[in-house]
Amino acid sequence: ADEKTEQCTFAELSLSTSLLRSLQEMGCEHPSPVQLHSIPLALGGGDVIIQAKSGTGKTIAFCSVVLEGIDTSTAGSSQAVILAPTREIAMQISDELSRLGWYLDPPVDVGCFIGGVPIEEHEERLSNCSPHVAVGSPGRTLKLLRDGILLTDARFLVLDEADKLLDSYFRQDIFAITEMVFTKQLQFLAVSATFPPPLVAIAEDLFVHVEKKHATRGQPIERELPHKVFLCTSAVKKDEDGLNIDELDQDGEKAETALLKGVLHVRYVLEGYHVRQKLPALLEVLTTASYQQAFVFVADSNNAIQIAEMLNQAGVPAAASGGKMEQSWRTQAFAGLKRFQYRVLVCTDLMARGIDAENVDVVVNLNLPVEKETYLHRSGRTARFGSVGWMVSLVFAGEEAEHLDFFQKQLGFELVDFADREAAMAA
Ligand code: ADP
Ligand code: MG
Repeated sequence: ADEKTEQCTFAELSLSTSLLRSLQEMGCEHPSPVQLHSIPLALGGGDVIIQAKSGTGKTIAFCSVVLEGIDTSTAGSSQAVILAPTREIAMQISDELSRLGWYLDPPVDVGCFIGGVPIEEHEERLSNCSPHVAVGSPGRTLKLLRDGILLTDARFLVLDEADKLLDSYFRQDIFAITEMVFTKQLQFLAVSATFPPPLVAIAEDLFVHVEKKHATRGQPIERELPHKVFLCTSAVKKDEDGLNIDELDQDGEKAETALLKGVLHVRYVLEGYHVRQKLPALLEVLTTASYQQAFVFVADSNNAIQIAEMLNQAGVPAAASGGKMEQSWRTQAFAGLKRFQYRVLVCTDLMARGIDAENVDVVVNLNLPVEKETYLHRSGRTARFGSVGWMVSLVFAGEEAEHLDFFQKQLGFELVDFADREAAMAA
């Protein structure tokens, strides 16, 4: 509840009545700090880089700005392009946009363009006109743009999980898309729970790069540096090199603990060397602890399927999701979790970011991630919007346990042993 800024209402953010009506029906009364700070800023124009803890409502923040800024009385080309690194996040964003834009008049048309869906479906969908807002994964969106099937006249380009999108794997596609959708009035919004300084710099480069590409020779670049809303900076500030980040540390508490707020970090140390040897402990956690729903992170899609199978046999309804699996399976697993058809989702880091399943109160790390950002994003699958949860890492004594200690030191959270978990939760 402390995510809410009780003294303020959405009406004070000068949003239109149709949006206010949807927000009310969605149970959103008070804007969260990130919404409070970023919505008015972005409505005022200019590029914005936004960083705030997982589960604090960044989606509604950028979707409100987009819906306020487009004109649904014209049709034909997309006025906003929203990109996300996984297909599931893209689907989630288009759902949120449709809910939030429900009362717009004329109604808003939102399209979702992700890989793994037959391209013919998208070609048919776009044969008459492009939707007001196009949400997509980078690969498919770029293909549709290049083929001249998705037409844009963009007011907005939004990068959700922007540090991931600007990291080496997607970077070329993002730069290519940006060049293709660039217009003079384009406003960039780049959003994430983690924004390491090198990636902030790349975001800034991207904005200026396209402006340069489109400027006539000799013409000065008019684009101003982006506004920055950084709500808890120290997890990204550590190796800061001269970046000017407007610090808005709401709670005045140590910012890295703020990023992890609401999550109890638990350690379960075992002897062994093969991931198989962790399965009894996994079963113990998922059959004896009390929880509503859980994510289990594993290193490989194939393992995910086997482990989900094992859990089902033990009476725990589970599904698996990973990059190597067919999209129809992935979509079904994801939807099934949200509908409570499954209690556990066994998945790879494909699901580490952005997924919003509000009843997930346990995250299990069957393996540890390599990067501390990934550890943060995994823990962000629980304790969403002011609720609480715990994340347990099953680690072998030795190197793996040391790796967990290293995360603890870097990120500054408290770590309790599995046996002491209940006492720590009660405290
Ligand atoms: P983030 O992208 O910051 O990780 P999301 O945008 O997925 O978080 O939002 C997390 C959850 O919080 C969603 O289920 C969303 O509906 C809910 N939520 C967002 N803003 C509010 C609000 N102002 N009041 C109540 N619930 C909210
Ligand atoms: Mg998000």
